Amino acid sequence: MTQPVTISIAATGRKITVPTGLFINNEFVPSVDSKETIQCINPATEEVICSVVAGSEKDIDAAVAAARKAFKTTWGKNVTGWERSRLINKLADLIERDAQELAELETLNNGKPVKIARDFDIGDSVQCLRYYAGFADKIVGQSIEIDNKTKTAFTRHDPIGVCGQIIPWNYPINMWSWKVAPALACGCTIVMKPSEITPLTALKLSELVVEAGFPPGVVNTVPSLGSVGGAALSAHMDVDKVAFTGSTVTGRRIMEAAAKSNLKKVSLELGGKSPHIVFESADLDQAANWTGLGILYNTGQDCTAGSRLFVQDTIYDKFINILVEKFKQLKVTNGFDEEAGAGPVVSKMQYDKIFSYIEAGKQQGAKAVLGGEKRPGKGYFVDPTIFVDVKPDMKIVRDEIFGPVLAVAKFSTEEEAIELANDTSYGLGAGLHSNDASQCMRVSQALEAGTVWVNQYNLLSNNVPFGGKKQSGIGRELGSYALEEYTSVKAVHWNYGEKLDWPL
Ligand code: NAP
Ligand code: MG
Repeated sequence: MTQPVTISIAATGRKITVPTGLFINNEFVPSVDSKETIQCINPATEEVICSVVAGSEKDIDAAVAAARKAFKTTWGKNVTGWERSRLINKLADLIERDAQELAELETLNNGKPVKIARDFDIGDSVQCLRYYAGFADKIVGQSIEIDNKTKTAFTRHDPIGVCGQIIPWNYPINMWSWKVAPALACGCTIVMKPSEITPLTALKLSELVVEAGFPPGVVNTVPSLGSVGGAALSAHMDVDKVAFTGSTVTGRRIMEAAAKSNLKKVSLELGGKSPHIVFESADLDQAANWTGLGILYNTGQDCTAGSRLFVQDTIYDKFINILVEKFKQLKVTNGFDEEAGAGPVVSKMQYDKIFSYIEAGKQQGAKAVLGGEKRPGKGYFVDPTIFVDVKPDMKIVRDEIFGPVLAVAKFSTEEEAIELANDTSYGLGAGLHSNDASQCMRVSQALEAGTVWVNQYNLLSNNVPFGGKKQSGIGRELGSYALEEYTSVKAVHWNYGEKLDWPL
């Protein structure tokens, strides 16, 4: 079963041909030993879109072998930075050319609105590829003085080698680009494992890898179950690095597998329970808009979701009224609806998980002032939900829900706000709104997070590093920092004058 399928999109009349095999050595191939398939579901209708091959452990071996061969022959240290740059730029151009088609496929499988998939996820992905294409011929080491008359040393930033990349379902194209772009720029080769829930766009992007002209084996894509393909990649003896975005539980497993196998380098971008603070001096209308973006963007399926909101007591009631009105304005509907601001959540499992948290919130005495009820009919739609007067030990305050569910609490002093904000095992994002510049500086310094937003929330930029503190992750993506994740520093000591006397 490696024949491509043609999918018809009713809303736009478009027909999209999607490969269904494993992408190894620039070809779509069947599994070497497995008959398993992955069924892809449209979360807006609960209908089956198609099935793709589910790769096995042996398929991961084949993909790693292809990636190793390419690394040793056509890629790695065998290709100039200019050539890598040219190919990455070409790939960016092709994604830009196909943006509408890719966006529709993303919407079909993930649920997010087409315009958001196209203009944000894909727009950002194209920019990300171009940003790292620019770095490909600018990866430089240091020249280090040892002794001016006899010795010098220099460093080379070598590509780390074969990289396993395991990506989640919330931003399938975007996370693909964040991982692929810096790896290729540095000269690494890739075995990509997309989420079993959303494998279609990674397969479609693989076609563009061929069209762009990358040599076989540089990028390989193996859709498979996490416990099979993801586990095999993390434990593989010939994988030099694994980059992961997803849950903290899975991240821990990956790190353990890396430690127990070949001590491969690991970068982890994990979950969060990010705090968002509104001080009394803030522009409340703006703060409410950013709060909405923080928790409702991507239907709350966002690792940086600002899911714990702390509002100063002097403006608490007023701000909640503004927030409720704002949240009601968001249209949560089928992503093919032109007016959709958010789509369904990605799967039945996520839908059930979110509602189990909503139930827990109600049972533990939090008050829902908006949402919190199931809709009738098909599709995994969850309406914006606001719980107020939450307590620090409630499940909806402690756990990552990964849905449009906001937990709001009151504070009176700046110290108290900081204390509450940092009371979590996570440290991915944090936000604050205030018109007092000194307060903004004090609080942004005190918040324990990899990213702090001041008078905004959730916006990232390809040239600014992103990653977590505490149990939100290890390593950084984006910016020049990401290059460190894909390079290995070699020091060369060079003697041109010292004679060694012997015996010692
Ligand atoms: P997950 O297990 O962390 O999935 C992320 C990726 O890891 C997927 O490609 C998954 O493959 C793979 N994976 C699963 N088990 C693995 C293993 N043992 N070894 C290596 N890779 C493995 O997340 P999930 O179960 O889909 O979602 C659960 C929760 O994780 C969400 O509710 C949310 O809280 C969090 N999450 C966070 C992010 C984020 O951006 N930080 C993204 C997604 C989910 P399969 O999909 O094939 O299982
Ligand atoms: Mg899973």
